[in-house]
Amino acid sequence: MIQTDILIIGAGPVGLFTVFEAGLLKLRCHLIDALPIPGGQCAEIYPKKPIYDIPAYPEILAGDLINNLLKQIEPFKPGFTLGEPAVQLEKLDNGHFEVTTKQGTVHRAPVVAIAGGLGVFVPRRPKIEDLQRFEEKGIAYFIKDPEKYKGEKVVISGGGDSALDWAIFMADNFASDVTLVHRSKNFRAHPDSVQKAFDLANTGKIKLHLDSEVYKINGNGKLDTVTLKRKEGDDVQIATKHWLRLLCLTPILRPIGHWGNRKKCHCGQQCIGL
Ligand SMILES: Cc1cc2nc3c(=O)[nH]c(=O)nc-3n(C[C@H](O)[C@H](O)[C@H](O)COP(=O)(O)OP(=O)(O)OC[C@H]3O[C@@H](n4cnc5c(N)ncnc54)[C@H](O)[C@@H]3O)c2cc1C
Repeated sequence: MIQTDILIIGAGPVGLFTVFEAGLLKLRCHLIDALPIPGGQCAEIYPKKPIYDIPAYPEILAGDLINNLLKQIEPFKPGFTLGEPAVQLEKLDNGHFEVTTKQGTVHRAPVVAIAGGLGVFVPRRPKIEDLQRFEEKGIAYFIKDPEKYKGEKVVISGGGDSALDWAIFMADNFASDVTLVHRSKNFRAHPDSVQKAFDLANTGKIKLHLDSEVYKINGNGKLDTVTLKRKEGDDVQIATKHWLRLLCLTPILRPIGHWGNRKKCHCGQQCIGL
């Protein structure tokens, strides 16, 4: 059983900086996160993306921001329970709280800070046979380390900023063989990125498949091919070891969103009361 002064659910930037503020008050913190690493969205979804809206940093990579936060809180020696979603919150007779993770780790503290952001990000999975068998073995839903795709043949699915930004970046900087697949003719990304993607397609640096969707995957243990269904024309099979589905990440706040009673707060919103 882990006992601390403040239990923080969520080790994203907000949870991490809470450790610093509490540390100044000589309070010890312990963080719980469903992810196996601290850093929340910054570490899990976009560690190599530059951020431009952090005070005093004209530009900083999301991963570097998290490393700086971890360095900043090091002197306060926080504890971590990582890779374990907090699933249960109970109020004890002495007024303290007990938080239990899905794996059964029990934590107790007089104060619980919820820094769960939008929740745990999970991909919306298409109905494709064997999909989960190939996850981490050729199929990815976000890019943590772009270096992995340097000079590689990649198939990217998606029509938003994430799909276009990465397709352009890889085609421009990595000499990767990039195929961009989108189920419509219209993109939802910034017009400037859409223009760049079409320019790269015209020079052969991106292979563009519009009105198309990946509907079949194949491989022996690891991904070998994906097959596209097109609105018009025959199926197309593409040999690739990397299919990047850069779309549809859904944040799930459960079970935090269901803890306690929902009651009216002074802000007029339905806030969560414990
Ligand atoms: C692609 C992308 C680009 C972005 N770019 C920018 C940008 O340039 N500038 C900017 O200011 N913002 C940007 N954002 C938004 C920014 O990332 C978020 O505002 C920020 O991460 C919020 O921090 P947080 O600590 O509140 O939450 P999060 O980073 O979401 O961290 C919350 C943590 O809580 C954990 N958690 C939730 N529920 C539980 C539970 N029950 N048990 C255990 N753990 C739980 C989650 O696993 C997560 O790690 C971007 C977001 C995305 C997705």
